[in-house]
Amino acid sequence: MAYDRNNVFARILRGEIPCRKVFEDEHVLAFNDINPQTPTHILVIPKGEYESLDDFAERASETEMAALLRATGRIAREAGVAASGYRILANHGANAHQEVPHFHIHIFGGRNLGRMIGKTAG
Ligand code: AMP
Repeated sequence: MAYDRNNVFARILRGEIPCRKVFEDEHVLAFNDINPQTPTHILVIPKGEYESLDDFAERASETEMAALLRATGRIAREAGVAASGYRILANHGANAHQEVPHFHIHIFGGRNLGRMIGKTAG
């Protein structure tokens, strides 16, 4: 599947849609989720055109990969959730209900997050 240049995060990266930015460098942009699920809910995205983790893991350079992971740690620390604890999550594809087809890492924190994952039928 070809990368969709009109997805909402591509538009944020081009400055066509505003975001509440929390971090930016050469390879990474991070901003607050528009519909936060936890007191801290930040999305960390690569600036390159990658649809999901699957695509990123396959095609991104080592520099881009390192930049994204280092930035994620730093952003969580600077958001003040490293001491209390946080969770990162990346949805890929239909079963995970990925909504936006540009790779993003969620950072959740600011409250007790419970166990790993909610129980669903099956
Ligand atoms: P996912 O289901 O992993 O694809 O999550 C997509 C996330 O993007 C959801 O948590 C949405 O609330 C969030 N989102 C969608 N549009 C925007 C936007 N314009 N600015 C910030 N977050 C957004």
